[in-house]
Amino acid sequence: MTTITLVQGDITRQSVDAVVNAANSSLLGGGGVDGAIHRRGGPAILAECRKLRASRYGKGLPTGRAVATTAGELDARWVIHTVGPVFSRAEDRSALLASCYRQSLRVAAELGARTVAFPAISTGIFGWPMEDGARIAVRTVRESADPSVEEVRFVLFDKEAYNVFAEVLEA
Ligand code: ADP
Repeated sequence: MTTITLVQGDITRQSVDAVVNAANSSLLGGGGVDGAIHRRGGPAILAECRKLRASRYGKGLPTGRAVATTAGELDARWVIHTVGPVFSRAEDRSALLASCYRQSLRVAAELGARTVAFPAISTGIFGWPMEDGARIAVRTVRESADPSVEEVRFVLFDKEAYNVFAEVLEA
């Protein structure tokens, strides 16, 4: 059975089997969670991302998909990179955001990860409203987590995001 937990903090400071990165499709780094993971995890992560770009993902990782690399110097075994959709008022991209959580959990289960830390994907630079992002995150994890994953930990950077997730989880 999968337990959902919430913590306020920095995702790069978590001790878990897998840390999920809110990456961009280039897989070559960016701001927010992505920048923090590469800074703290060191160059081994970027080296594997470059290899993925040179092989399986020549055009980059498509939105909604997930792929694992080493976690480098993070206190984790793997980083699972997933590309969230950019929020749009004109187009409903919720299915792509749900796909990020579902695909990341599928990769985690395949690897044998029992603890997985997620950021609030797409709610930073990609502009997704926090409450809607939290609903999609919680619903998709509840629907799709393989029972071999024991803990899914949402790591929220600030108190506001934490409170939004706490409300959604209780509702
Ligand atoms: P995206 O491009 O998918 O929007 P971001 O990394 O910009 O991704 O932001 C995703 C969420 O992660 C935002 O809510 C942001 O505040 C939060 N965040 C940024 N840095 C960290 C971190 N080090 N640990 C946890 N959450 C973070």
